[in-house]
Amino acid sequence: MTTEKNFQKQKDYQALIQSVTDYVVAINRNYRIIMANELFKNQFGVHPGGFCFRGWKNRETKCENCLVEKSFRDGQNHSNEDTVIMKDGRVAHMLIKSTPVKDENGDISYVLETATDITEKKRLENELNKLTGDLEHIVGDRLQNLQKSEERYRTMFERSRDAILLTDAAGNILEINQAGVEIFGYRNKEELRAEKTARDLFQDREALRRFRREIFREGFVTEFEAKLTGKGNRAFDAAITCNVMILEEMGKVTGYVMIIRDVTQRNQYQKKVEQQNTQLAILNAISTTVSSSLDLHELLKSVLEKILEILESDSVRIYLLEKAKKKLVLVAHKGLSETFIQEHHIQARNVGDGMLGQTVKNAEPKVVNNLQRSKDRYVDLLLKEGLKSTAYIPLLSREGPVGIMAVSSLSPFRYSPDYVAFLSGVGNQIGIAVHNAHLYENLKKAYKDLKDTQDQLIRTEKLASLGKLAATIAHEINNPLAAVLNYIRLMIKLTARGRFNAAKLDDITRYLSTMESETARCGEIVKNLLAFSRQSRMTMANHNIREIIDKTVALISHDLGLKEISVVKNLQENLPPVFCDFRQIQQVLLNLLSNASEAMTNGGTLTISAKGQEDEEFLEICVSDTGCGIPEDLLDNIFEPFFTTKEEGKGVGLGLSVVYGIIARHNGSIEVKSEPGKGTSFRVLLPFSQEGLENLNT
Ligand code: ADP
Repeated sequence: MTTEKNFQKQKDYQALIQSVTDYVVAINRNYRIIMANELFKNQFGVHPGGFCFRGWKNRETKCENCLVEKSFRDGQNHSNEDTVIMKDGRVAHMLIKSTPVKDENGDISYVLETATDITEKKRLENELNKLTGDLEHIVGDRLQNLQKSEERYRTMFERSRDAILLTDAAGNILEINQAGVEIFGYRNKEELRAEKTARDLFQDREALRRFRREIFREGFVTEFEAKLTGKGNRAFDAAITCNVMILEEMGKVTGYVMIIRDVTQRNQYQKKVEQQNTQLAILNAISTTVSSSLDLHELLKSVLEKILEILESDSVRIYLLEKAKKKLVLVAHKGLSETFIQEHHIQARNVGDGMLGQTVKNAEPKVVNNLQRSKDRYVDLLLKEGLKSTAYIPLLSREGPVGIMAVSSLSPFRYSPDYVAFLSGVGNQIGIAVHNAHLYENLKKAYKDLKDTQDQLIRTEKLASLGKLAATIAHEINNPLAAVLNYIRLMIKLTARGRFNAAKLDDITRYLSTMESETARCGEIVKNLLAFSRQSRMTMANHNIREIIDKTVALISHDLGLKEISVVKNLQENLPPVFCDFRQIQQVLLNLLSNASEAMTNGGTLTISAKGQEDEEFLEICVSDTGCGIPEDLLDNIFEPFFTTKEEGKGVGLGLSVVYGIIARHNGSIEVKSEPGKGTSFRVLLPFSQEGLENLNT
């Protein structure tokens, strides 16, 4: 039975051992293999009775940490992991277990050793360990970064000087930093949250609408400028940067992050800088204008344009002081109605009269912010024009005020000290410009006077030297000519007595009469030359100019009548007497009238006018005709001696130079205006006064 039982038991074991997937060997106390399953035999070869260490490990001696030995010694199960070299040379990782098998007496008859190939398990285990290790590392790092960035954000949030707000989708404030609480003027965020939503922060509904439109369209808004209100509706300028927070998977708006900066001060600075830039631009524009033009009229015109172009005002008037510095006269204006400008008190103002007059007198700027409250006596005129405020700015040059600039606005305007200082700067620029323009005008006039004097001097010089020449000629040719004339007259008498051959009588008579007229002409030249050379004495006395004119016209009226020339006399009633040489002035008029008559070959009108007042310096005589006129390029030559355009025998070119000489000796002047084909006009100015002329009598 026992044997049968044992046998049966052994058979069961055998079957079990064969069926497992582990390597199984039974080893006795001497380390010899007493049984092995097929798996073992296949892998490690058949070693019945062989040493287990040879079978397992191909060793010559027992293994150091022998499990079989351990199980025999203590009757316990043991296990360890070891590596074994397999048939194909692969190193396999094995989990080896030893189990003592006891006999009926309880003695250990052998030890069953099983080995499980755990190479794959080990590899997976290793891999898993590695992965787990990496994962832990990554997660660790991420966590650390997250903490860091959260810290950073927190610090930024708390330390930011801008307000940072988190709101929900409806705009309710979820979170706000300390700076935000302060910017909006609250004690703490609870108080703010209780009073306001993000929408209530906007002062202006329109700005809120624009803000929302932009954020819905773009998903963010940068530096959106709007007026926001804090506690007690205190408003301030803000720049808002806002981002929408979206729940990614659903695309749903969960709220907004808003960064708000109080830019009130920045805006104020900016405005100030802009204002200063504008003012600099005007000053620059004005000083450029001022330095580019010396023509006062043009200069003021461009200055006005510039001022209105850049200033916040609606109108400007510029007044300049008259020479005597007693009166201001409007010289330029812009932005005002014609009716207003034509007002007597707007056109001109005495120094000291009204606001304009006082400002120029005190040489200090004066500002009226609201004209309705002004006491100026002319304020009604300004109010009627719709003007509400005016700054009166004196135009100052180095030598004091030269005028005033009135800058007006159609609305009450607060002229800040800065603005007035700036306008004064403009005033100074204009003042200097006006001064320079005056200097330039004076210079121009002085230059013209000098040029005129020089021209006159040249002419006088020419005349003087010609005068000398004339005197010589007169002496030289007058007597012989007189003799020739007497002789010819005698010959005519003889002829008349029939002592010449009758057949030649007519011819001789014709010759002789030609000789007479020619000789007479010579005499005429000599006479003119004498008058012209001052050799004839001047007989100065007070004469009635009307009488001289009438007598002269009478002299040539016959000739004028023949030529169908009508005479118009425009002689002022009660012309004051003129201190002059009657005959010489008559000579002047005769020459002018003869020339006029000769210019009107087909008839026309000869106009003689004369006017002059006692309190004026000169008497003015004009002789005008409707004749052929004088080409412009000849105008400068007509007063020159011997200049004539007339055919030989008709003119000797001394008429106008005689006129010029006589007028010059009377300290007067003569000028000519002419239009070819239309006519010519000579204007003579004769001084009434006797001063400086008496000595001419001597
Ligand atoms: P003359 O008459 O002998 O030519 P004047 O000295 O009187 O000499 O005049 C000089 C020139 O001036 C004239 O030849 C003529 O060309 C021009 N002149 C003077 N007066 C007139 C006038 N009223 N209309 C047109 N030409 C004139």
